[in-house]
Amino acid sequence: MLSKFVNLNLLTILGTVGHTGTLVLNQNAWGDLTSTLLGSGLVEQVESLSQESPRLMTGECQSEMSVQFSRGCPFECEFCDISVRYGRKPRTKTPAQVLAELETLYILGLRLPVFIVDDNFIGNKRHVKLLLQELAPWMAEHGYPFPLSTEASLNLAEDDELLELMIAANFSSVFVGIETPNTDSLTLTKKHQNTRQPLRDAVDKINRAGLRVMAGFIIGLDGEKPGAGDRIIDFVEATAIPHPVFSYPGEKPRTIIFDLVSG
Ligand code: SF4
Repeated sequence: MLSKFVNLNLLTILGTVGHTGTLVLNQNAWGDLTSTLLGSGLVEQVESLSQESPRLMTGECQSEMSVQFSRGCPFECEFCDISVRYGRKPRTKTPAQVLAELETLYILGLRLPVFIVDDNFIGNKRHVKLLLQELAPWMAEHGYPFPLSTEASLNLAEDDELLELMIAANFSSVFVGIETPNTDSLTLTKKHQNTRQPLRDAVDKINRAGLRVMAGFIIGLDGEKPGAGDRIIDFVEATAIPHPVFSYPGEKPRTIIFDLVSG
C-alpha cells in the first residue's frame, strides 16, 4: 500500500495524508522519495521504505518532523479559513495514537524537533490536557528525544495548567497569531480571544512559563489606523518576540470576510 506513494510527488502525498498520519519531510530534495507516511504504528512498512530511500531514515535532509493531533478551531477570526473548512469543534487523535507515532519516530532513530502541525493545538483543551498528561511521562522515559513546538491561540496564556503541562511534555516554543496590537481591529475582525487581556501581558506570561513565542502579524486588517507597521515593531521589541511573521489579509476563499465581501 505504502509503495504506491513512492511515485507520487510530495504535494500529492501531503494532500493525501491529510489528518491521518505523520509526515517526515525532506524539503531540499524534490524528486527523491522525500516524504513518507508514518503514524499508523506500522514500523515494518516504514522500514521497507528505507530500502528504497535510505536517506529518509537518517534525518540528514530533514530539519523538523511533523505530527498532527487535532484539526479545527473553536474561534471565528473572520480572515481565517480554518473554522470554515474544518469546523469549530476540533477533532483530535487519542493520546495512544500520538504516542504511537512518536514511538515510531523514536524506534527509527530520528532525533529531530517535532512540530505539532495543528490548526490550533489547544482548540480542544480537555483533549489536549489528556494528551499532555500521557506525553510528559513518555518524554521522560525516552530521555526527551524531540523538542516540540506548535501553533496555539493566545488564550493559552489564560491557562496555567496547560502551560505547565506543555513544558513538562518538552514543548519549547509556540506560534501564536497576534495579528495586530490594535484592539479595535481585533474586535472588528472577531479575534476576541486576543482582547481578553493585554497582549503584552499574554506574551510575557507564555515566555515566563518557558515557551518561546513566535508570532504572526497581519498588516492592513479592517479598522487599522495609519502607523500599523510602527505599532507592530514597537510591540515586537517590547515583547522580545524573536520570530515575527508578517502577512496581509488578502481575499482568502472560505473565510467569513471573503463571503461578506463577495456577497
Ligand atoms: S484562532 Fe487561529 S486558527 Fe482559530 S480561527 Fe483564529 S486565526 Fe484561525
